[in-house]
Amino acid sequence: MDEKMKTVVIVDDRKVEVREVRRPSPRAGQILMKINGCAICTWEQRTFSRESKMPLPFVGGHEIAGEVAALGENVNEKEFPVGSKIVARLIRTCGKCYFCRRGEENLCEELNNLDNSDMEVPGTGGMGEYLNIDASQAYPYPEELPVEKAVFAEPLACVLNSIEKGRIELGDDVVVIGGGIMGMLHIISAKLSGARVILSEPDAARRVLAEELGCDITFDPREQDPVAYVKTLTGGYGAEAVFNTTPIAAVAKQAVGMTAPMGRCIMYSSQHPDVPFEISPNWLHNSETVVTGAVSPSVRSFRRAVNMLAKNIVNPEKLVSGVFSYEDAQQAFEAAVRPDTFRIIVKF
Ligand SMILES: [Zn+2]
Ligand SMILES: [Zn+2]
Repeated sequence: MDEKMKTVVIVDDRKVEVREVRRPSPRAGQILMKINGCAICTWEQRTFSRESKMPLPFVGGHEIAGEVAALGENVNEKEFPVGSKIVARLIRTCGKCYFCRRGEENLCEELNNLDNSDMEVPGTGGMGEYLNIDASQAYPYPEELPVEKAVFAEPLACVLNSIEKGRIELGDDVVVIGGGIMGMLHIISAKLSGARVILSEPDAARRVLAEELGCDITFDPREQDPVAYVKTLTGGYGAEAVFNTTPIAAVAKQAVGMTAPMGRCIMYSSQHPDVPFEISPNWLHNSETVVTGAVSPSVRSFRRAVNMLAKNIVNPEKLVSGVFSYEDAQQAFEAAVRPDTFRIIVKF
């Protein structure tokens, strides 16, 4: 008889339930990962609250950490000993499209083309006790790193990909717009890159936390014109790198407006709704400012993120707002969608 495992399924509007499903067994080249912790990201929150119309039932979860439970054929047990700790970059890439061939697998044309053939309920599958991953998706990490920190590998990797696009130089001014979890990870990473970091965030509690994390200047964008304020702080030029971590339409234009000539403006967040705005081609011509985006973690940024967590260069402790057992997954999701929480972690 097949072995069973528990999984957390989004079944309806703001409703999750724990289901018993078939436990997969690893095929050739795969690792059966025992998931010890899974953080609830914005994507799962939007599916839970039905802002995203992902078909239900659905098993989310892509910010995962755990250990090697079993190996399929052709996976080296010296490389991945059973019981050793791993995080997984769950994004599957094809390896052969235009972007993959250029080494930019985070833009793969077949990204998230998930192989659900061994899962009873569709989804990314991180919100369950076990998951099959390809050995190439597994990144070992040291035993000493607690699971509550290891689950930050994926979100930090997304942010480090963004930071790379910002090309921060020592002594630069960096503006982070939005003090949610992604904004906070940008602050930590920009400080490590040697910048003076400025946060635009209306919520006072978030501004306080940002300062605890090393942010140099924080301000409330409702109290003053953010573009004008950033310019007064930066000798009239604007910041060398601006990271927009909010999905708010009006903010995207502000982000461009506060970027210095020759600076980089990075649209980190996806936009809901997506509202176009005007940019003057002559301004681009004369300023050489770069306006770009950053999406998903690259292989390179994932490795970096694991290293930074494993070596305690980045400590995400203050961004953990709650840890729940999978049996209390309903409460965990309800906590995750509250605006005052950062990451909620579900343990298996
Ligand atoms: Zn995520
Ligand atoms: Zn590809």
